[in-house]
Amino acid sequence: MMKEMEKEGMNVDLLELEKFSQLAHRWWDPNSEFKPLHEINPLRLDYIDKLAQLAGKTVLDVGCGGGILSESMAGRGAIVTGIDLGDKALKVAKLHLLESGRKVSYRKSAVEDIARDEPHHYDVVTCMEMLEHVPNPASTVNACAQLVKPGGWVFFSTINRNPKSYLFAIIGAEYILNLLPRGTHDYAKFIKPSELARMARRAGLDVADLTGMTYNPINRVYALGPDSDVNYIMAYRG
Ligand code: SAH
Repeated sequence: MMKEMEKEGMNVDLLELEKFSQLAHRWWDPNSEFKPLHEINPLRLDYIDKLAQLAGKTVLDVGCGGGILSESMAGRGAIVTGIDLGDKALKVAKLHLLESGRKVSYRKSAVEDIARDEPHHYDVVTCMEMLEHVPNPASTVNACAQLVKPGGWVFFSTINRNPKSYLFAIIGAEYILNLLPRGTHDYAKFIKPSELARMARRAGLDVADLTGMTYNPINRVYALGPDSDVNYIMAYRG
């Protein structure tokens, strides 16, 4: 297990950023360490689009990484800003726009800082597969709540915390199936849906939906459904 290294006064773990930074050049390789993100992307994109109707909406993608979700939301007609604190991921994200021809505005910013500068600015805020990598997820949730317009949508995805998620998300994904590099996830940082709901409620968000995301190791297919024991997405209204 890696020790946390927090940057003074900021809700960021520098060791977590470093892990993603080392892999960043492979972000758009669909057979790389980022394969799971590529495979779940159409599912989460459809889910977000169905609830929030992305066309013409302003979207902030928090912890955007190399831009897999940001670009795909732009492809549905959203006006997307992607933020991350990883320099390399942002560089890769910007470079990929040349290849895809899509338009996303990428910025290196902490979500807490943008929340101060642009309160209630976005129709939709997405924060996917990031909360389990920050020292203080409640601060991230709070900032996302500040950023969304009243009545807008906020989406979080993360990993549940229970014996089954330990078995599937860590032992299964990192040690047996080698879907992710060892050490990608820290069990202690997983978040139960009830805990996320409490953080969101305190931030003034109303829960709208919860969906599970499962992986079938036999046919290697990801799906959305009622089983939120391991991966899940929660949708909130501002
Ligand atoms: N949301 C993207 C990438 C998930 S990987 C997707 O689902 O496709 C997690 C990302 O969170 C990495 O790009 C990492 O650099 C970023 N990250 C980790 N801590 C962060 C923080 N405190 N602020 C912003 N981004 C952070």
